[in-house]
Amino acid sequence: MDLDSIECVSSSDGLDEDEIHLHHTLHPYSLSHHHPELSATKPRNGSNNSGIAVPTATAPATSVHELLECPVCTNSMYPPIHQCHNGHTLCSTCKTRVHNRCPTCRQELGDIRCLALEKVAESLELPCKYYSLGCTEIFPYYSKLKHEALCNYRPYSCPYAGSECSAVGDIPFLVAHLRDDHKVDMHTGCTFNHRYVKSNPREVENATWMLTVFHCFGQYFCLHFEAFQLGMAPVYMAFLRFMGDENDARTYSYSLEVGGYGRKLIWEGTPRSIRDSHRKVRDSHDGLIIQRNMALFFSGGDRKELKLRVTGRIWKEQNPDAGCVSSSDGLDEDEIHLHHTLHPYSQSHHHPELSASKPRYGNNNTAVNGGPTATAPATNVHELLECPVCTNSMYPPIHQCHNGHTLCSTCKTRVHNRCPTCRQELGDIRCLALEKVAESLELPCKYYSLGCTEIFPYYSKLKHEGLCNYRPYSCPYAGSECSAIGDIPLLVAHLRDDHKVDMHTGCTFNHRYVKSNPREVENATWMLTVFHCFGQYFCLHFEAFQLGMAPVYMAFLRFMGDENDARTYSYSLEVGGYGRKLIWEGTPRSIRDSHRKVRDSHDGLIIQRNMALFFSGGDRKELKLRVTGRIWKEQNPEAGVCIPNLCS
Ligand SMILES: [Zn+2]
Ligand SMILES: [Zn+2]
Ligand SMILES: [Zn+2]
Ligand SMILES: [Zn+2]
Ligand SMILES: [Zn+2]
Ligand SMILES: [Zn+2]
Ligand SMILES: [Zn+2]
Ligand SMILES: [Zn+2]
Repeated sequence: MDLDSIECVSSSDGLDEDEIHLHHTLHPYSLSHHHPELSATKPRNGSNNSGIAVPTATAPATSVHELLECPVCTNSMYPPIHQCHNGHTLCSTCKTRVHNRCPTCRQELGDIRCLALEKVAESLELPCKYYSLGCTEIFPYYSKLKHEALCNYRPYSCPYAGSECSAVGDIPFLVAHLRDDHKVDMHTGCTFNHRYVKSNPREVENATWMLTVFHCFGQYFCLHFEAFQLGMAPVYMAFLRFMGDENDARTYSYSLEVGGYGRKLIWEGTPRSIRDSHRKVRDSHDGLIIQRNMALFFSGGDRKELKLRVTGRIWKEQNPDAGCVSSSDGLDEDEIHLHHTLHPYSQSHHHPELSASKPRYGNNNTAVNGGPTATAPATNVHELLECPVCTNSMYPPIHQCHNGHTLCSTCKTRVHNRCPTCRQELGDIRCLALEKVAESLELPCKYYSLGCTEIFPYYSKLKHEGLCNYRPYSCPYAGSECSAIGDIPLLVAHLRDDHKVDMHTGCTFNHRYVKSNPREVENATWMLTVFHCFGQYFCLHFEAFQLGMAPVYMAFLRFMGDENDARTYSYSLEVGGYGRKLIWEGTPRSIRDSHRKVRDSHDGLIIQRNMALFFSGGDRKELKLRVTGRIWKEQNPEAGVCIPNLCS
């Protein structure tokens, strides 16, 4: 025997480095049976005749938040959320309006709950919709809407009282809008002196009003004057609103004075924010109220003409915390807060932009009472994608019962048309919403705690995790179905303590393998020794097996670490005796490649039994192989050849 036979053996696997990579790409799950932790989440489409192929990566196209918009009315959906058999969702209000036909596929709607989407909503944490205006708060879905109706960063509504104006925006925008679109008088200064004249003061209508804007202290104030019926009594009222939020409004005070012909009435108060609607301020009587008879005294007493001179002043409070709202209206600060708490939506009809997303429980006879309340995020969206029956990750098609209990397509074929959760008939209902949720998810690699920082769409996460560089290693011990996994230090200790493997230090070795009856060659005949050098650990495998019909012995080295590091080392193995010698040089394979895979690719020193018996002395009674070897670090691993260069 000479080196020609080695050349034959080592080239016979026909698998070069490029092909190994290709193999990984085509069969991302081919290694997963070596990872007990991974196989728990492996999709089982094989046994499911309605299933699709192995899931592939999908770019996150749909935002989960968009899934919660009713596709019919575009309002945000709140429980109960409904769907058709094909999984097209709609809100409970729309469900009552579509005459039992799915608006998307026109098939019969039935009465199917989409519980999965309701749970998704529960688990969501979303930024306030006014984040672009400066709000940085994050809310559970069911309390987000409530916050947004009161968010300090929400745009202001037009303070003009006499119309259903729908303009919203920030203060500079609204000031320009009042001046340009409503032709409102604009005044500069913190004092004012206005005269209101009306020729027929007996006509008091709700619609009689005036608005003037004052600019002082760098702020804008709205002075309202109007006539209305207070109970049965006609009155005039003047009040000031601050163009800004409640907290800033409280830092100002104002006075109004009206009088004439020896009489005088003075009001002092705090301007209300334009967050409080014109009507709300008026109805709370938070301003100067003048009975009509009194107003006619001020006008001269001839009861023919109203001539009111209103003077006033705005000033900045030195200590705004002492007394915010005037005590004369009987409404103190605490009561205002209480009012807000009890009726969070009381102002929402002034916010056209907000009302589009307001839940409509009123005309839906199956809806729960009251508005949505805050729910702590209890369910992780990722957990929703675990089949509640087998706990595997669910992939399309995802199924559910009429009550919304989901299950994977494999389990669906096994449950005899009964929902495992509620025991009712299962039918053939798709949970499209959950499939879309999965599509839109971006999740961290499950090995993030081991150092992986990558984020993946749901449908490609599993594929990555099967190949993640940070995934734990499997035990390299070949002779058992050992399920130990962990990092290299853990596995080294495990090999030493649990498998009683010989541990050697140094980069050279000299081992003798002796076997008394060399005719018995079984797959199960093998040995493992661990070498520690260059700060790394290497596994030297020696075993006997049948190669085709020929019994052979094989020795090879595996590196305890990943593929890239493995390629920076080389090793040689030499076996000989009685005038013959066989030398192998190669690159250790990573223990990512299973013992069996390396063996079956013939990537090591292979000794035919007859040759081995020559080395043993030729009496064919006993196998006595002395294997020596050496491990070294490659100076330039890129230029080197990874697969033995003896192959040529
Ligand atoms: Zn709807
Ligand atoms: Zn449909
Ligand atoms: Zn906000
Ligand atoms: Zn307006
Ligand atoms: Zn299942
Ligand atoms: Zn069920
Ligand atoms: Zn990873
Ligand atoms: Zn083990």
